Amino acid sequence: MGPLNLPRSVSVLGSTGSIGVSTLDLFEQAGVEVEVVALTAGRNADRLADQALRWRPRIAVVQDEAALPRLRERLKGSGIETAAGSAAVADVAAAEAQWVMSAIVGFAGLAPTLAAAKAGAVIALANKESLVCAGPSLLRMAKLAGGAVVPVDSEHSAIFQVLDPQSAAHVTRLILTASGGPFRTWSRQQMSGATPDQALAHPNWSMGAKISVDSATMMNKGLEVIEASYLFAMPPERIEVLIHPQSIIHSLVEYADGSTLAQLGPPDMRAPIACAFAWPDRLPWPAPRLDLVKSGPLTFEEPDPERFPALAIAKQALAAGGRAPAAMNAANERAVSAFLDRKIGFLDIAGVVADTLERMERQGLAAGADDDAVEGARVTDAAARRVADEVVIRRNSLALE
Ligand code: NDP
Repeated sequence: MGPLNLPRSVSVLGSTGSIGVSTLDLFEQAGVEVEVVALTAGRNADRLADQALRWRPRIAVVQDEAALPRLRERLKGSGIETAAGSAAVADVAAAEAQWVMSAIVGFAGLAPTLAAAKAGAVIALANKESLVCAGPSLLRMAKLAGGAVVPVDSEHSAIFQVLDPQSAAHVTRLILTASGGPFRTWSRQQMSGATPDQALAHPNWSMGAKISVDSATMMNKGLEVIEASYLFAMPPERIEVLIHPQSIIHSLVEYADGSTLAQLGPPDMRAPIACAFAWPDRLPWPAPRLDLVKSGPLTFEEPDPERFPALAIAKQALAAGGRAPAAMNAANERAVSAFLDRKIGFLDIAGVVADTLERMERQGLAAGADDDAVEGARVTDAAARRVADEVVIRRNSLALE
């Protein structure tokens, strides 16, 4: 094996989260020697400081200004620069790292991801919300600046690995697999009483709170359908979702001649991160290996639209186009947060998203062309958050009547 052509400098946006921690752990496990330009967090100054002291970035940034004094105190005398605020996060995202892990959660990841795209970095994209809200612009910007967007989501990484660009015209279907989440076998009645703790207990993956709830409602798969449509230029009707509770097959690509290619592996996010880091090379690291005998039978089911309406809502938003996906994403972020704060029930999450989209449509707020998507996404995001918060309050008062 010849020398690997790996990125020499990296930044990790959202380094203190589940994906950020897995990224740095992968570097550790693989013995990667890399210059770390920037590490960023929301407010967890202590974890960020620990990471900074280990990885010696040029700068460590917290989005929440209230966390800056603690970060400064912890990094005093280290020579590592510190900063705070959303603008500072976007600024360091544009600093000259060759490879940028985009692992901030939610819409907050959009501006830094766009900044990294404009700077021409190779973006390892975990923050699916930025693609959902401004996918075509983000991809265009990355291309224009000479960079690239490489998916980290395990499903999209699977497709990325088996979709041969030379045969792209012959693809008939993309099949995204889904674990089905913690409520796969629950009745609607049971789901109506589901608590945040139950929704956060994912059977196969250990992830941040927001994506764990998205997996439980299957909105995560809805966001992924939109992500796949933009990333692989595939119309919505050619993207399907298949429940596969073992999370061993990460997705499949069907070709015109009836051949279907799949990518397999144990459920461990460090594998798709390794792929996004080294592509087209392969990073050697002590990865958990797939043992198909031990992993037992692989099973498949159709998703149930009655119990998981979020999937259809996302497909409708994708088909509607314009700013509908950004509106849907914002409504979902507010609904998930209201559920985690115990203001609404589990089944209300999809209800809030559907009601918000309907109200936005009636008020003409979700209209708009795809090509002004960046500013448009910001305006739509703010409007949809306001509407979703009103819908949450209305549902609350109805529930109390
Ligand atoms: P986490 O909640 O674990 O981590 C989120 C990261 O973003 C943390 O570093 C957090 O900082 C930071 N952050 C939060 N809010 C802000 C903000 N307003 N501005 C700047 N930074 C902020 O999320 P995950 O790691 O689970 O997910 C990250 C992204 O990756 C999501 O888009 C998710 O959908 C996607 N993804 C995750 C997978 C997983 O296995 N976890 C799988 C596939 C995709 P702090 O720690 O200080 O709060």
